[in-house]
Amino acid sequence: MYKHIIWDWNGTLLNDVDLSLTAINIVLKRYNLPALERTRYLEIFTFPVIDYYFKLGFDFTQTPFSVVGTEFINEYTARMLQVDLHKGAEKFLKIVNDCGLTQSMLSAAKVPMLETLTNHHNLRHYFIRLVGLDNHYASSKLEVGRDWIRELPYKTNEILYIGDTEHDIDVARELGVDIVLLALGHTSYKRLVKSGKRVFMDFSELILWFDSRKISD
Ligand SMILES: [Mg+2]
Repeated sequence: MYKHIIWDWNGTLLNDVDLSLTAINIVLKRYNLPALERTRYLEIFTFPVIDYYFKLGFDFTQTPFSVVGTEFINEYTARMLQVDLHKGAEKFLKIVNDCGLTQSMLSAAKVPMLETLTNHHNLRHYFIRLVGLDNHYASSKLEVGRDWIRELPYKTNEILYIGDTEHDIDVARELGVDIVLLALGHTSYKRLVKSGKRVFMDFSELILWFDSRKISD
C-alpha cells in the first residue's frame, strides 16, 4: 500500500486546459500565428514547453522564448482564479488523506502561484509540501523532484505519482516511483496509454481503483 502521493497540478488536479488554450491563442494572434484547437493541443503539448512553442510556429530568432513564454504566463495568470478543479479531485484528496497517506505536489509552476491557487481552492492543508520551479519557463521537474524524493521519509515503492503528461511519466521513471495517469489534462488519452501505464478517464475511475487496492493489499 502506498504511503504518499505526489501530485502534478496543472491538468491533473486543476482543470486548466481551456484556460491554457485561451492564453496561448491570445499570444498566437499577437504574432499573427494560426489559432490552436484543443485536439491538436492535446497531441503537441510537451515538456520542455519551448519545444511546444516551436511547433506552434514561434520564431525565436525574432522574439526570444523568454518573451513569448512570459506573455503566455501573463495571460494565464490574469485568468487563473476563474478555473475550477476537476470534478472529484477534492473528494479524492480527502479520501487519500482520510486513509492516512500524506500528499505533496510536484509542479513545473512557480511555488508562489501554487500557494495562491491551493489556498484559493481551500486545498493547501492536503499537501505537506508544494514543490515547484523557480522560473515559469517549465523546463523539467526532475531535479526538484529528485531533491524532494530524497527528503521524503518513504521508500520509492511507497510513493505513487499522479500526472497528466508524458513528462510526468518520464519523471516518475527517473525517480523510481509508480505512476498512474489522468486523461483529463494536457495530453490525449491516446498518447498517455502508449506508455503502458494505467490511465484513468476521470476521478471516479481513479477512486474505484484506489479503493480496490486498499482491499487487495
Ligand atoms: Mg500537468
